[in-house]
Amino acid sequence: MARIKLDGLKKTYPGNVQAVKGIDLDVADGEFVVLVGPSGCGKSTLLRMVAGLETISEGTLHIGERVVNTLEPAERDIAMVFQNYALYPHMTVYNNLAYGLKNRGFKADEIERRVGEAAGMLEIEAFLTRKPRQLSGGQRQRVAMGRALVREPAAFLFDEPLSNLDAKLRVQMRVEIKQLQRRLKTTSLYVTHDQLEAMTLGDRLVVLNDGLIEQVGTPMEIYSRP
Ligand code: ADP
Ligand code: ADP
Repeated sequence: MARIKLDGLKKTYPGNVQAVKGIDLDVADGEFVVLVGPSGCGKSTLLRMVAGLETISEGTLHIGERVVNTLEPAERDIAMVFQNYALYPHMTVYNNLAYGLKNRGFKADEIERRVGEAAGMLEIEAFLTRKPRQLSGGQRQRVAMGRALVREPAAFLFDEPLSNLDAKLRVQMRVEIKQLQRRLKTTSLYVTHDQLEAMTLGDRLVVLNDGLIEQVGTPMEIYSRP
Protein backbone atom coordinates (compact mmCIF):
# COMPACT_ATOMS: atom_id res chain seq x y z
CA MET A 1 0.00 0.00 0.00
CA ALA A 2 1.12 3.49 -0.65
CA ARG A 3 0.33 7.04 0.16
CA ILE A 4 -0.51 9.30 -2.79
CA LYS A 5 0.52 12.90 -2.30
CA LEU A 6 -0.23 15.80 -4.63
CA ASP A 7 1.50 19.14 -4.09
CA GLY A 8 0.35 22.08 -6.17
CA LEU A 9 -0.62 19.89 -9.09
CA LYS A 10 -1.59 21.82 -12.22
CA LYS A 11 -2.56 20.94 -15.76
CA THR A 12 -2.74 23.40 -18.61
CA TYR A 13 -3.80 21.95 -21.97
CA PRO A 14 -2.73 23.54 -25.24
CA GLY A 15 -4.75 26.68 -25.90
CA ASN A 16 -4.20 27.74 -22.26
CA VAL A 17 -7.05 25.53 -20.97
CA GLN A 18 -6.39 25.41 -17.22
CA ALA A 19 -8.05 22.13 -16.33
CA VAL A 20 -6.37 21.71 -12.91
CA LYS A 21 -5.27 24.88 -11.18
CA GLY A 22 -3.30 23.79 -8.10
CA ILE A 23 -4.35 20.75 -6.06
CA ASP A 24 -2.87 19.71 -2.70
CA LEU A 25 -4.11 16.34 -1.53
CA ASP A 26 -2.72 13.64 0.72
CA VAL A 27 -4.32 10.20 0.37
CA ALA A 28 -3.20 8.07 3.32
CA ASP A 29 -2.07 4.44 3.13
CA GLY A 30 -5.20 2.34 2.67
CA GLU A 31 -7.52 5.30 2.36
CA PHE A 32 -10.32 5.40 -0.26
CA VAL A 33 -10.75 8.93 -1.59
CA VAL A 34 -13.49 9.84 -4.06
CA LEU A 35 -13.20 12.83 -6.39
CA VAL A 36 -16.56 14.39 -7.20
CA GLY A 37 -17.75 17.56 -8.88
CA PRO A 38 -19.53 18.81 -11.99
CA SER A 39 -18.60 17.75 -15.50
CA GLY A 40 -15.51 19.59 -16.69
CA CYS A 41 -14.19 20.41 -13.19
CA GLY A 42 -10.96 18.48 -13.79
CA LYS A 43 -11.59 15.10 -12.10
CA SER A 44 -10.50 12.98 -15.01
CA THR A 45 -7.47 15.15 -15.78
CA LEU A 46 -6.33 14.90 -12.16
CA LEU A 47 -6.72 11.12 -12.08
CA ARG A 48 -4.94 10.74 -15.41
CA MET A 49 -2.00 12.78 -14.13
CA VAL A 50 -1.72 10.44 -11.14
CA ALA A 51 -1.91 7.47 -13.52
CA GLY A 52 0.77 8.92 -15.79
CA LEU A 53 -1.59 9.09 -18.76
CA GLU A 54 -1.38 12.90 -18.86
CA THR A 55 1.72 15.01 -18.27
CA ILE A 56 1.88 17.21 -15.18
CA SER A 57 2.29 20.92 -16.00
CA GLU A 58 3.35 21.96 -12.50
CA GLY A 59 3.61 20.51 -9.01
CA THR A 60 4.88 17.30 -7.43
CA LEU A 61 3.28 13.86 -7.33
CA HIS A 62 4.42 11.26 -4.80
CA ILE A 63 3.29 7.64 -4.86
CA GLY A 64 4.74 5.95 -1.83
CA GLU A 65 8.12 7.48 -1.11
CA ARG A 66 8.88 8.30 -4.73
CA VAL A 67 8.34 11.37 -6.84
CA VAL A 68 6.74 9.85 -9.92
CA ASN A 69 6.09 12.96 -12.05
CA THR A 70 7.94 11.67 -15.07
CA LEU A 71 7.61 7.90 -14.58
CA GLU A 72 5.74 5.79 -17.13
CA PRO A 73 2.36 4.37 -15.97
CA ALA A 74 3.83 0.87 -15.67
CA GLU A 75 6.54 2.14 -13.31
CA ARG A 76 4.16 3.76 -10.83
CA ASP A 77 2.95 0.64 -9.02
CA ILE A 78 -0.69 1.60 -9.62
CA ALA A 79 -3.50 -0.01 -11.56
CA MET A 80 -6.35 1.82 -13.20
CA VAL A 81 -9.90 0.59 -13.77
CA PHE A 82 -11.58 2.26 -16.73
CA GLN A 83 -15.26 2.68 -17.57
CA ASN A 84 -14.92 1.13 -21.01
CA TYR A 85 -13.54 -2.20 -19.71
CA ALA A 86 -10.45 -2.08 -21.98
CA LEU A 87 -10.42 -5.88 -22.38
CA TYR A 88 -8.68 -7.76 -25.19
CA PRO A 89 -11.62 -9.09 -27.29
CA HIS A 90 -9.75 -12.01 -28.86
CA MET A 91 -8.45 -13.41 -25.56
CA THR A 92 -10.20 -15.55 -22.98
CA VAL A 93 -10.94 -14.08 -19.59
CA TYR A 94 -8.04 -16.08 -18.16
CA ASN A 95 -5.63 -14.66 -20.71
CA ASN A 96 -7.00 -11.16 -20.26
CA LEU A 97 -6.01 -11.47 -16.61
CA ALA A 98 -2.73 -13.26 -17.24
CA TYR A 99 -1.43 -11.33 -20.26
CA GLY A 100 0.22 -8.41 -18.49
CA LEU A 101 1.82 -10.70 -15.92
CA LYS A 102 3.23 -12.91 -18.70
CA ASN A 103 4.64 -9.83 -20.41
CA ARG A 104 6.28 -8.83 -17.20
CA GLY A 105 7.95 -12.21 -16.92
CA PHE A 106 6.11 -13.65 -13.93
CA LYS A 107 6.48 -17.39 -13.44
CA ALA A 108 3.57 -19.63 -14.47
CA ASP A 109 2.68 -20.68 -10.92
CA GLU A 110 2.68 -17.07 -9.71
CA ILE A 111 0.42 -16.08 -12.62
CA GLU A 112 -1.92 -18.94 -11.80
CA ARG A 113 -2.03 -17.95 -8.15
CA ARG A 114 -2.79 -14.29 -8.89
CA VAL A 115 -5.39 -15.01 -11.56
CA GLY A 116 -7.02 -17.62 -9.34
CA GLU A 117 -7.16 -15.27 -6.38
CA ALA A 118 -8.57 -12.36 -8.38
CA ALA A 119 -11.10 -14.60 -10.12
CA GLY A 120 -12.21 -15.93 -6.74
CA MET A 121 -12.62 -12.49 -5.22
CA LEU A 122 -14.60 -11.26 -8.21
CA GLU A 123 -16.55 -14.50 -8.64
CA ILE A 124 -15.63 -14.96 -12.28
CA GLU A 125 -14.05 -18.44 -12.01
CA ALA A 126 -16.86 -19.92 -14.10
CA PHE A 127 -16.08 -17.60 -17.04
CA LEU A 128 -12.32 -17.99 -17.33
CA THR A 129 -12.46 -19.79 -20.67
CA ARG A 130 -14.95 -17.38 -22.27
CA LYS A 131 -14.21 -14.41 -24.51
CA PRO A 132 -15.33 -10.93 -23.40
CA ARG A 133 -18.18 -10.85 -25.95
CA GLN A 134 -19.68 -13.90 -24.21
CA LEU A 135 -20.01 -11.96 -20.96
CA SER A 136 -22.61 -9.57 -19.57
CA GLY A 137 -21.67 -5.94 -18.87
CA GLY A 138 -21.26 -6.63 -15.18
CA GLN A 139 -19.09 -9.66 -15.81
CA ARG A 140 -16.89 -7.63 -18.17
CA GLN A 141 -16.49 -4.94 -15.58
CA ARG A 142 -15.43 -7.60 -13.08
CA VAL A 143 -12.81 -8.86 -15.51
CA ALA A 144 -11.59 -5.27 -15.96
CA MET A 145 -11.23 -5.02 -12.19
CA GLY A 146 -9.50 -8.39 -12.20
CA ARG A 147 -6.87 -7.02 -14.56
CA ALA A 148 -6.12 -4.35 -12.00
CA LEU A 149 -6.21 -6.80 -9.04
CA VAL A 150 -3.69 -9.28 -10.47
CA ARG A 151 -1.09 -6.55 -10.63
CA GLU A 152 -1.26 -6.36 -6.81
CA PRO A 153 -0.56 -2.65 -7.04
CA ALA A 154 0.20 -0.24 -4.23
CA ALA A 155 -2.82 1.83 -5.27
CA PHE A 156 -5.94 1.64 -7.44
CA LEU A 157 -7.24 4.44 -9.63
CA PHE A 158 -10.86 4.24 -10.79
CA ASP A 159 -12.22 6.38 -13.61
CA GLU A 160 -16.03 6.20 -13.38
CA PRO A 161 -15.85 2.40 -13.57
CA LEU A 162 -19.60 1.87 -13.21
CA SER A 163 -21.00 4.59 -15.44
CA ASN A 164 -21.64 2.27 -18.40
CA LEU A 165 -23.70 -0.18 -16.35
CA ASP A 166 -27.45 -0.13 -15.82
CA ALA A 167 -28.83 1.15 -12.52
CA LYS A 168 -29.31 -2.25 -10.90
CA LEU A 169 -25.81 -3.43 -11.75
CA ARG A 170 -24.33 -0.17 -10.56
CA VAL A 171 -25.81 -0.74 -7.12
CA GLN A 172 -24.56 -4.32 -7.04
CA MET A 173 -21.04 -3.45 -8.21
CA ARG A 174 -20.89 -0.55 -5.78
CA VAL A 175 -21.46 -3.00 -2.95
CA GLU A 176 -18.87 -5.38 -4.39
CA ILE A 177 -16.23 -2.68 -4.68
CA LYS A 178 -16.96 -1.73 -1.08
CA GLN A 179 -16.43 -5.33 0.02
CA LEU A 180 -13.17 -5.56 -1.94
CA GLN A 181 -12.04 -2.34 -0.34
CA ARG A 182 -12.74 -3.71 3.15
CA ARG A 183 -10.83 -6.85 2.32
CA LEU A 184 -7.82 -5.44 0.48
CA LYS A 185 -7.53 -1.99 2.09
CA THR A 186 -5.58 -0.76 -0.92
CA THR A 187 -5.11 3.00 -1.27
CA SER A 188 -7.65 4.17 -3.86
CA LEU A 189 -8.54 7.28 -5.79
CA TYR A 190 -11.98 7.02 -7.39
CA VAL A 191 -13.65 9.44 -9.80
CA THR A 192 -17.43 9.55 -10.12
CA HIS A 193 -20.27 11.95 -10.67
CA ASP A 194 -22.64 9.61 -8.81
CA GLN A 195 -23.38 10.89 -5.32
CA LEU A 196 -24.48 7.50 -3.97
CA GLU A 197 -21.29 5.89 -5.21
CA ALA A 198 -19.26 8.63 -3.56
CA MET A 199 -21.13 8.29 -0.28
CA THR A 200 -20.95 4.50 -0.21
CA LEU A 201 -17.32 4.13 -1.13
CA GLY A 202 -15.43 7.14 0.11
CA ASP A 203 -13.61 7.36 3.41
CA ARG A 204 -13.16 10.93 2.29
CA LEU A 205 -14.62 12.97 -0.55
CA VAL A 206 -12.88 15.73 -2.45
CA VAL A 207 -15.21 18.12 -4.24
CA LEU A 208 -13.60 19.81 -7.22
CA ASN A 209 -14.87 22.91 -8.92
CA ASP A 210 -13.25 24.62 -11.88
CA GLY A 211 -9.89 22.93 -11.33
CA LEU A 212 -9.67 23.63 -7.61
CA ILE A 213 -10.67 21.84 -4.40
CA GLU A 214 -13.91 23.29 -3.07
CA GLN A 215 -14.49 20.99 -0.10
CA VAL A 216 -12.86 17.99 1.56
CA GLY A 217 -14.60 15.82 4.14
CA THR A 218 -16.29 12.58 5.06
CA PRO A 219 -19.48 11.76 3.12
CA MET A 220 -21.46 12.93 6.17
CA GLU A 221 -19.63 16.23 6.32
CA ILE A 222 -20.05 16.90 2.61
CA TYR A 223 -23.64 15.85 2.08
CA SER A 224 -25.26 16.92 5.36
CA ARG A 225 -24.26 20.55 4.86
CA PRO A 226 -27.10 22.91 4.03
P1 ADP B 1 -14.15 16.08 -15.61
O1 ADP B 1 -13.47 14.75 -15.57
O2 ADP B 1 -14.39 16.65 -14.24
O3 ADP B 1 -15.39 16.09 -16.43
P2 ADP B 1 -11.94 16.87 -17.30
O4 ADP B 1 -10.71 16.66 -16.53
O5 ADP B 1 -12.32 15.88 -18.32
O6 ADP B 1 -13.16 17.13 -16.30
O7 ADP B 1 -11.85 18.27 -18.02
C1 ADP B 1 -11.42 19.47 -17.35
C2 ADP B 1 -11.30 20.60 -18.37
O8 ADP B 1 -10.23 20.33 -19.25
C3 ADP B 1 -12.53 20.79 -19.25
O9 ADP B 1 -12.66 22.17 -19.48
C4 ADP B 1 -12.16 20.05 -20.50
O10 ADP B 1 -12.84 20.59 -21.61
C5 ADP B 1 -10.67 20.30 -20.59
N1 ADP B 1 -9.94 19.21 -21.28
C6 ADP B 1 -9.96 17.90 -20.94
N2 ADP B 1 -9.15 17.19 -21.75
C7 ADP B 1 -8.60 18.08 -22.62
C8 ADP B 1 -7.69 17.98 -23.71
N3 ADP B 1 -7.15 16.80 -24.05
N4 ADP B 1 -7.37 19.13 -24.37
C9 ADP B 1 -7.89 20.31 -24.01
N5 ADP B 1 -8.77 20.47 -23.01
C10 ADP B 1 -9.12 19.38 -22.32
P1 ADP C 1 -1.88 -5.51 -18.90
O1 ADP C 1 -0.61 -5.32 -18.14
O2 ADP C 1 -3.01 -4.71 -18.33
O3 ADP C 1 -2.32 -6.89 -19.10
P2 ADP C 1 -0.32 -4.69 -21.19
O4 ADP C 1 0.72 -5.62 -20.78
O5 ADP C 1 -0.71 -4.60 -22.63
O6 ADP C 1 -1.66 -4.94 -20.39
O7 ADP C 1 0.06 -3.24 -20.66
C1 ADP C 1 0.19 -2.13 -21.47
C2 ADP C 1 0.76 -1.02 -20.63
O8 ADP C 1 -0.26 -0.42 -19.82
C3 ADP C 1 1.81 -1.51 -19.66
O9 ADP C 1 2.74 -0.47 -19.48
C4 ADP C 1 1.03 -1.76 -18.41
O10 ADP C 1 1.84 -1.71 -17.27
C5 ADP C 1 0.02 -0.64 -18.45
N1 ADP C 1 -1.22 -1.03 -17.85
C6 ADP C 1 -2.02 -2.03 -18.24
N2 ADP C 1 -3.11 -2.13 -17.50
C7 ADP C 1 -3.02 -1.15 -16.58
C8 ADP C 1 -3.84 -0.74 -15.53
N3 ADP C 1 -5.00 -1.35 -15.22
N4 ADP C 1 -3.43 0.31 -14.80
C9 ADP C 1 -2.27 0.92 -15.09
N5 ADP C 1 -1.45 0.57 -16.08
C10 ADP C 1 -1.81 -0.44 -16.82
